[in-house]
Amino acid sequence: MAERFHKSVPLVLAALLAAFVFWIDSQPKFDLSISILYLLVLVLVSAAGSTTLVVRGAQVCVALTVVALAFVHIDDLSPASLLRCLFACVAIGVTAALLVSRKRLEATKRDLERSRSEVELFANSVPYVLWHSNPRGEIVYLNESWTAVTGLDRWSVLEGQRYNDVVHPDDIPILNETVSAAVANRTQTDLKVRIRQANGSYRWMQIYDNPVLSPLTGQVDRYGGLSDVHNEVLAKEELQRVRNELEISRAELAYFTDSVPQILWRADAEANIDFYNRRYTEITGRDFRETIRRQDYIDDYHPDDRDDFLRLQREAFSARRELRANFRLRHADGSYRWISLVGRPVRVTEGSEDVRYYGGISDIHEEVTAHQKVRELNETLEQRVAERTAELMRTERRYAGLFDISNMTFAEMDFNAAETILDHLKASGVADLRSYMAAHPDELSRTLNAIQTTRVNEALARLLGYDSVADLVALPPAQIADDGREILLRQLVMYYDGVDHIDGRTVLIGKGGRRVPVYFTVIRLPDGLHLSSHVDLSDQERIEGMRRAAQAELARANRVATVGAFSASIAHELNQPIASMLMDAQTGLRLLSREQTDIAMLHRILQRVERTAQRVAGIVQRTRDNIVAGRRAVRAIDLCRLLFETRDLLAHDLRRANVELEIVCSDAPLQVSGDPIELQQVFVNLVNNAADAMREQPGLRRVTIEIDADDELIRVRVADTGPGIPEQHVDRLFEPFFTTKANGIGMGLQICRSAVESMGGQFSVTNQPAGGAVFSFDLPLAQEPG
Ligand code: ADP
Repeated sequence: MAERFHKSVPLVLAALLAAFVFWIDSQPKFDLSISILYLLVLVLVSAAGSTTLVVRGAQVCVALTVVALAFVHIDDLSPASLLRCLFACVAIGVTAALLVSRKRLEATKRDLERSRSEVELFANSVPYVLWHSNPRGEIVYLNESWTAVTGLDRWSVLEGQRYNDVVHPDDIPILNETVSAAVANRTQTDLKVRIRQANGSYRWMQIYDNPVLSPLTGQVDRYGGLSDVHNEVLAKEELQRVRNELEISRAELAYFTDSVPQILWRADAEANIDFYNRRYTEITGRDFRETIRRQDYIDDYHPDDRDDFLRLQREAFSARRELRANFRLRHADGSYRWISLVGRPVRVTEGSEDVRYYGGISDIHEEVTAHQKVRELNETLEQRVAERTAELMRTERRYAGLFDISNMTFAEMDFNAAETILDHLKASGVADLRSYMAAHPDELSRTLNAIQTTRVNEALARLLGYDSVADLVALPPAQIADDGREILLRQLVMYYDGVDHIDGRTVLIGKGGRRVPVYFTVIRLPDGLHLSSHVDLSDQERIEGMRRAAQAELARANRVATVGAFSASIAHELNQPIASMLMDAQTGLRLLSREQTDIAMLHRILQRVERTAQRVAGIVQRTRDNIVAGRRAVRAIDLCRLLFETRDLLAHDLRRANVELEIVCSDAPLQVSGDPIELQQVFVNLVNNAADAMREQPGLRRVTIEIDADDELIRVRVADTGPGIPEQHVDRLFEPFFTTKANGIGMGLQICRSAVESMGGQFSVTNQPAGGAVFSFDLPLAQEPG
């Protein structure tokens, strides 16, 4: 209201002044150049009105000037009055133009002022520090936020250009460097530094500083600002830290997953695998990245297991349920092994419907194969049990059939009660049941009485002459056999020692004292029953008697049959002594025909003839004894003495054959029991064989007979220096009639061996490593009489 009043007053004054000037100017009586006062009217109008009003006022003033001129000088229009009028109009116009232009200038100024204050207001109202710097980088403007942020007066900072005081000392180098480079290159600055706050703390702030070409100055000014990015920087640092930790834990997780001895996997809800640990590659030999890329993991599964697995997988994934499957997985070496796969669904985030499956694969091959083996074993076992049961049933039927209708004899006895007694004895520590029962006959009787015959078959009743099996069953078991108590005791011992059967011979006692020799077998059945079976030996014993008689006859016939061979051997054995006697007789006759008869020599010759004749008589006697079995002149023989006598006998022949006979004998008499002629014949045979073997041999011809003895045996060894026995003949030497000699008979060695064996010795032959054959035999030492 007041403002409108203030504006109206100059306008009213202007109007009054204009009216007054017009009145004066239109009066002819006043010839005054008053129209110049219209300029004042315009000044008053411009003081309160707008530029339009000033223009209108000027137009009115010009019009009034012209109208006044017309009034006054309509009749006498002079050039002077016209010029005066024109001058006045020009002055009014110029003044109006000046006033309008001034008015416009003021309006522009006001607008400028308002804009500046608005900019200031805006700059101060934003929560950022803003500045304006000149091309040299000196800050010429800072908004109020500077003070709010740093607590420092902006004008004093501007004055001293000390804005770097608030920058963290550590950040000043990079700030200076960045700002200098930005100013020099007229580039943008974008930098985060720590700025000291009003409370003394530092906060991260972002510096933006842009170069701008000023259209007014044509220079590059810079406008910039500071924004608080402290939280953002801290958040970023925190994010980085979390990222680092995440990276570490991811690495640890990878290390962990790679170190477990199983395959680990992860899949999305559509069963697309997006993770395998390295174990996958180690086990399957396939690069896990490739498998993830191709999603062809099913190729690793055994073709027979794939459909089952895919079905289980479909069912589990569609129901978001746990997946469990066992299948065979192909390994790097191409073999398939049984594995167990487990996968569990886990929600991606709390409350989310989306799931991931996390799972593992573990090797169960050993378990599965073991299980399969057990199953197979079970099946085999079951099958065996079934077969065994069927067999048992068949056996049971057979057994029943055998028992009842067979011709074989059976008896079944119940030992349950007796075994209970034995169990008690065992529990009380009795180890040797037989000795215990021998010492406790009452206990034996009590135990035997506890045994019952439960069944006998018809065949046994028939064998023992009973009309009904019941009569036999009723008898006490011990009475059925000659040594019934002993057999039952053996059965008790059989149970006691855990033996499952016994057998032997006995004589069963039948009705009316009938005696039946049998071979029996008793076996233990599982339920405390003993089953005995018998083989009737009556016929067999009769046959055995006949066999023994036949054997004796055969032996005799054999002996007779060998007489032929003996005859040949006798011829062989007698040949040498008879030839010897013949030569001695011829020598004796020659001596007698001489004039001077050497009586002593004749005596020696006759003595030798006598010994040889005795030997011949002995050979004949022994031969006869051999043919008629059992008659042998057995007596104690001093072996060494016999040997020396034999050497005397053979001395003549050995000399002629150029053979040296050495006897190595102990001084103590070594006596054997036997037929001296037979034994002497053994030595004669062996020495003659050795001499024969060495007959064609140049050089040394020696036969060595060694005799030694221990407490029981005398060992004799006859060795020669001949060619030895050819390998292929060794096994045939003792065959009758085996000979390699033109005039041999091949009975000598057989006679030797049977002679030695009949005296309880053993005969053997070997070749000596150095050459020559060795015939050895041992003979039992004769027992000292008395
Ligand atoms: P015979 O003297 O009538 O041949 P023997 O039974 O005494 O019958 O001997 C059988 C064979 O054994 C002899 O022909 C000879 O080949 C061999 N033999 C026996 N003793 C010896 C020995 N000391 N050295 C080599 N061969 C021997």
